[in-house]
Amino acid sequence: MQNLWIVIPTYNECDNIAENLARLFKLNLSLNVLVVDDNSPDGTGELVDELSRFYKGKLFVLHRPGKLGLGSAYRQGFAYCLGRGAQVVGEMDADLSHLPEDLPKLWEKIGQGAEVVIGSRRVRGGKIVGWGLGRHLISWGANTVSRLMLELKTHDVTAGFRLYKVEALEKIPWRTITSNGYAWQEEIICLLERSGARVAEVPVIFNDRTYGKSKLRKKDIVEFFITIFRLAGK
Ligand code: UDP
Ligand code: MG
Repeated sequence: MQNLWIVIPTYNECDNIAENLARLFKLNLSLNVLVVDDNSPDGTGELVDELSRFYKGKLFVLHRPGKLGLGSAYRQGFAYCLGRGAQVVGEMDADLSHLPEDLPKLWEKIGQGAEVVIGSRRVRGGKIVGWGLGRHLISWGANTVSRLMLELKTHDVTAGFRLYKVEALEKIPWRTITSNGYAWQEEIICLLERSGARVAEVPVIFNDRTYGKSKLRKKDIVEFFITIFRLAGK
């Protein structure tokens, strides 16, 4: 059995995180969870501190001083998990758009030899429910342009529900990835594909969040497209 750690970045997710954690720890999987909280004004960090007493030894919290971005949360979170012996690390939103009950499907692929597994909305059987036209267009554009310019095989480049084998991660310079926002997702998958990592996509149905707001900002979209050009030139 490989040592699995799931990293969940949070910024104002107090209406989602407790249910997400309860459903994750109910699974028939042995896992640790690290929540990386960006000093959420709604008290998510304090709530997770309390929950970590309840889920002692399997729930951990990293408190950061402010909203430093999704990519920087994963960079710091992965370093924390690797320092504690993780062999597989995962990414997941706090907002239940990524169903905890889908995690075993992703995990199974690791058992079958995949080094990177993506909970994919853009392969047969996957879909996105509840987004408006604007968000669909942004996501479609980001995927299409990055796939074309970076010659990626992955269909869902922007997906945030993933597992990585640490062995594969350690073949790329993930610690020095400079994308601090959502561009992290395309940068890390691009580096992994270029390193020859075996990537598998598992179809998932992504439901837009019920509680709270999306943290995607214009700045993240700009960073995403600038990163495509930076990576294309390498
Ligand atoms: N998040 C974060 N810091 C940030 C931006 C996002 O911790 O600066 C968290 C957020 O709380 C969520 C995850 O990252 O758990 C993904 O963000 P969100 O669900 O808002 O993005 P979307 O699903 O709309 O792409
Ligand atoms: Mg989300």
